[in-house]
Amino acid sequence: MTIKLLDHEIKVKLEDPGNWDRNNMGHSDIGAGTITIDNTMPTDTIQSTLIHELIHIIAGLNSISLTEQSVDGLAIGIYSFIKNNPDWMEHIK
Ligand SMILES: [Zn+2]
Repeated sequence: MTIKLLDHEIKVKLEDPGNWDRNNMGHSDIGAGTITIDNTMPTDTIQSTLIHELIHIIAGLNSISLTEQSVDGLAIGIYSFIKNNPDWMEHIK
């Protein structure tokens, strides 16, 4: 899947972490324009991890310094909003 974010195209890859050198749920590479997520996790976790990695990329593109704890908190809140209000844009036009 390729997503558009802040005039960038980001390729989202779901992979078995056995292919990775690291032991994370996901990671982002702004230079390469990729987000890689462990596809062995539950769907909710994959989805929230994507939001987490998007926040890393948004912060990086805007030179915003965030701690991992900040990224986690923002990701949990934004994911909760998207998950529980999937049609929110239909109500605000
Ligand atoms: Zn992170």
